[in-house]
Amino acid sequence: MVDVARLLRYGVSSSLADEAQSRGIGVTQIRALSRKVLVDRYGFDAATAAELKKCVQRQPIHGEVLNLLLDRSNHVCCVCKGTKGAGVIAHHIKEYERSKDNSYDNLAVLCPSDHDRAHSKGLTLGLSPQQIFKAKGDWERTVEQENARRAAQAVDVDDDGIDYINIKRIEDMCLNRYGAIPTTTMGTQLVRSGILSSNFTFDERYVRENLSDGYLFGYINSSETEHYRQLLTRLSESVSFEDLDSAARSGIRRLQSLEGKYTFFIGAVTSRHPGEPTTHSAPLTWRHKTSKAEICWDGDAKYLMSLSALGRQGRTNRYLIYGLVRTVLKTGPGKVEVTCSPLLVAQPKSYIDRTPAIAWQRHLDG
Ligand SMILES: [Zn+2]
Repeated sequence: MVDVARLLRYGVSSSLADEAQSRGIGVTQIRALSRKVLVDRYGFDAATAAELKKCVQRQPIHGEVLNLLLDRSNHVCCVCKGTKGAGVIAHHIKEYERSKDNSYDNLAVLCPSDHDRAHSKGLTLGLSPQQIFKAKGDWERTVEQENARRAAQAVDVDDDGIDYINIKRIEDMCLNRYGAIPTTTMGTQLVRSGILSSNFTFDERYVRENLSDGYLFGYINSSETEHYRQLLTRLSESVSFEDLDSAARSGIRRLQSLEGKYTFFIGAVTSRHPGEPTTHSAPLTWRHKTSKAEICWDGDAKYLMSLSALGRQGRTNRYLIYGLVRTVLKTGPGKVEVTCSPLLVAQPKSYIDRTPAIAWQRHLDG
């Protein structure tokens, strides 16, 4: 079995690597065989045979570097975004023969057509190293944001990483959209234990009087958080969550366009400790501040999910927050305050650096 990925590491295009694979030859055979044999016995044309022989003389790109490069480019050309075809080449921005530079910064994913443009110097249709470098950076940011969006859309969080759920609001959203609370894998069991009423809404009074020991959610376990996580996942099929963090980085106009919209945010937020015991409502605000914007999520401490969630308040945490943007107000020149109602506050799982494994999945899903 010929290793296509290995040929890619030598700068062979994916289509040529596929072709070599179908003819049963890989790096080792290409090195060992003469150009003449590649032409006569394996049916490559002379130029392709020469290209293959040239590529396998190189130092290969490190496998992890290539994987990261492909992932962050979503396995398509960073210039045409795959519109010219699915084939890819790991292109050296500073020519390999001169630079011998296999580092991440010197590599970009191109399709064969844009690769030709990169090597056709002087033509008006050519691509300069600067253009490729910029296209790579821009495309990687887009892929990263898209990945964060997809991860948020899937509510890809651990149930024990969920610190806050606005139970009432999630239930209201379900009732408005579906006329009833949808079934989850936990619903029936939670009705049986009295935590949910027969119509699958949370029975706060029962919980407070029979299960809670002063602190409303002192008893909570993963069934409840998983139930609401599933409801939010279901809602995310019909509600589009916009990227609040990237909007905050693009400026006031973009933020203003989010008023009244559902959003997700991944980043550092600070809160004040609401005090104990929080058997009754106590205001709880999470804040994220940049030079341009201050984003506040106003919550109610009774919806904290656990004592450890309570323990994390009064500090700065890295959170994924789903919420509704209520108001976007100018507070000074170039400054804005955004007020939101949080639906769910969780510690992010796999996408702390905003590059989740989802890029691979997307590639495999085609
Ligand atoms: Zn292209």
